[in-house]
Amino acid sequence: MNALSLKYLWLNIPPRIASTFSPVVVSRVPNHENKIFLTFDDGPTDATKHLLTYLESMSIVSTFFWTGSNVASFDTDGDGSRLASSVTIGNHFNDHRDPWTMRRKAMQESISEAATAITSKTGVVPKTVRPPYGHVTPGLVSMARANGLRVILWDVMAGDFMDGIDVEVMVAECCKRIQSGSIVVLHDHGIRHFEDVLIPFISRLNTRIVEAGFSFSAL
Ligand SMILES: [Zn+2]
Repeated sequence: MNALSLKYLWLNIPPRIASTFSPVVVSRVPNHENKIFLTFDDGPTDATKHLLTYLESMSIVSTFFWTGSNVASFDTDGDGSRLASSVTIGNHFNDHRDPWTMRRKAMQESISEAATAITSKTGVVPKTVRPPYGHVTPGLVSMARANGLRVILWDVMAGDFMDGIDVEVMVAECCKRIQSGSIVVLHDHGIRHFEDVLIPFISRLNTRIVEAGFSFSAL
């Protein structure tokens, strides 16, 4: 096994273990319709509107996990509800702090502030939360349970954040792992990332996904 394959294993095994702790923690959504779930973390950014338009042009449904601080500075052109109607939005904490370094109260505040920012900008009340780095704590699980939130992890981290990653390698690694109900993580990391990595990756992945009989759905 080469170093890159090991890295993919390291990225994809911990969330599956974490999802065995509680039914509210989800790393895959098994279903009989061959649906898979594409997710984009860390936005919104200057690429978000372009990304949404691109996904719409490809008829790809997806889920975005936004941080409160990014939402607060995001310009929706005064039409956040129309923007939100084209995508499902989940909570990615207010400030992207690592849950493993936070006290329970600070984590609750971070999630609550992000939810408020998302709702005031778009009218959407997030029903899902993805902890930064996929780091789950007992406090997060009990808070999610009490608030009717699902904690969404993944079983397929695409690796688009790795420096110099080859898009063909990403597609190959993802297609090795994707199965019915897979949750795939990508990142909304700005316009350059969108043009250089996301467009070539998503167009290739979409072709392979359709050929294999899968379809994209939202969480
Ligand atoms: Zn993140």
